[in-house]
Amino acid sequence: MPRSPQLPRIERRRSKVHGWGVFALEPINKNKRIVDYAGEVIDYKESLERETKYLKRGEIWCFTVNRRWVRDANVGGNVARFINHGCKPNCYSTIVGHTIWICAARNIEAGEELNYDYFTDGEQVIQCRCRPGCQRKL
Ligand SMILES: [Zn+2]
Repeated sequence: MPRSPQLPRIERRRSKVHGWGVFALEPINKNKRIVDYAGEVIDYKESLERETKYLKRGEIWCFTVNRRWVRDANVGGNVARFINHGCKPNCYSTIVGHTIWICAARNIEAGEELNYDYFTDGEQVIQCRCRPGCQRKL
């Protein structure tokens, strides 16, 4: 799907942190929208069942939109699903209606890996790998 020319160019590449990551291909100004977190909209109960399955594989795909709805990026997701978690991130998420926007938390240089805080509220079974020695569980 062609992306809006208004949005900065980003690319999925192998990450030094974990698996795939998403990298800026151009400088991105603070607070600029970068990409929306796409995925099937499902209700909260359905998301709990799917999350249990994903967590067993060490994966996090479900992003809470609000108390009723969740987006599952494993179904119909876009490049945003490869953005890694960071405890000291350069991006943040903001929700407008049912759209989850990933925005720049500061000025980002071309070539930087993007990350944002997942703020997971689940079972916290996955060790955070945002940096060496991070003690957080996701
Ligand atoms: Zn961490």
